[in-house]
Amino acid sequence: MKQRLFTPGPTPIPEEVLSALSRPIIHHRQADFKEIFRRTCTELKYLFQTKEDVVTLTASGTGAMEAAVVNLLSSGDSAIYVDGGKFGERWGHILKQYSVTPIPIKVEWGSVLEAETVRETVLKHPKAKAVFLTHSESSTGTAIDLKRISETVNNSSKALIVVDGISSIGALEVQMDAWGIDVLITGSQKGLMIPPGLSFIAFSQRAREAARTSRLPKFYFDLERAWETVKEMQTPWTPAISLIVGLDVALQMIRQEGLQDIWIRHDRLAHAVREGSAALGLETFSKSPSNSVTALLMPQGIDGEALRSQLRKKHGIIVAGGQDHLKGKVIRIAHLGHVDNLDIIAVVAALGMAVEECVGGSDPAASLSARSGTGFDPGAGVKAALRELSKPVRHRFELEYSYQ
Ligand SMILES: *Cc1c(COP(=O)(O)O)cnc(C)c1O
Repeated sequence: MKQRLFTPGPTPIPEEVLSALSRPIIHHRQADFKEIFRRTCTELKYLFQTKEDVVTLTASGTGAMEAAVVNLLSSGDSAIYVDGGKFGERWGHILKQYSVTPIPIKVEWGSVLEAETVRETVLKHPKAKAVFLTHSESSTGTAIDLKRISETVNNSSKALIVVDGISSIGALEVQMDAWGIDVLITGSQKGLMIPPGLSFIAFSQRAREAARTSRLPKFYFDLERAWETVKEMQTPWTPAISLIVGLDVALQMIRQEGLQDIWIRHDRLAHAVREGSAALGLETFSKSPSNSVTALLMPQGIDGEALRSQLRKKHGIIVAGGQDHLKGKVIRIAHLGHVDNLDIIAVVAALGMAVEECVGGSDPAASLSARSGTGFDPGAGVKAALRELSKPVRHRFELEYSYQ
């Protein structure tokens, strides 16, 4: 059966990238690699919207999260982090592991992070060295208003702003320099459309200064080495050469489409998934939904794991499940990276069929059909999604840097 991947990492890989990945290996200390690496370094600046170097690490996204912590802080420091899901929680785990006192801002999963709460917390903890944020919390499908929150932190404290942009970069608007972000991170298997194995991290000048005095132990993730070697278009260690060759192609595709149009596309696809699902009686879990992944709340009587299994076995559609207390209660559909209008129609169509197959003639069908008026219509989602997909552009974006 044909498989279609709609998970918040890994995401589908374009054929152009797949064929680049299968090229014969080259040596990373040679001129041909340096040329490819040079191009990726430039294009990553465009993607991050920064003038600073973006370091490529051979590690999954969590490696870059750890790199942020060990390069900024010293043992005994304290740092604020937002805990509103699995990935926000991870910041707390890393901080604790390195004897940094974590100060959590607890946000109920799927709820909105208020800028005022962030302001109060940074004012209450003036010694906190940094604020660790998750732009798009993939476990709940929730986005924060990153521009506003960064502004709030910068206006009320000197704390560095560290952003996990792993499921947002290449999908949601992020402008590192213009928004005053100090550390920005992403991974390869999300908006970047290449397989897992690489992560990317950029430091502002202010963060570079903090790195000079940071005393936490580090070797592989010591960014000073990376900033030194990048001048020669090199990495300190053997990089995942083939992934960087694939990255080069993916970044050219991103440049060709243009960041603003990519953000518009993700906005359109996300709305189509949410509206399509709503027409099937499935509500979006988050009160501040992310444009890269939608968590859908399961109605009474539908088990999320059973629905996922039906989607996979009957329709070849792979979506993610809920984590921790959301297991079985939500399913998560990613619309992230190499995804277009017709992919969305496919996933919404399959969702309609799978819901009907799952509920059969039982009670949930009655409650679903009550919501949709007359009997459950598995095609209602597709109709609603098509309507969304043909709507005019909701919001246009201005870029700080174009790097022509
Ligand atoms: C995927 C993801 C991560 C973790 O990345 P790994 O590549 O699995 O280490 C962290 N944060 C967010 C928001 C993610 O979506």
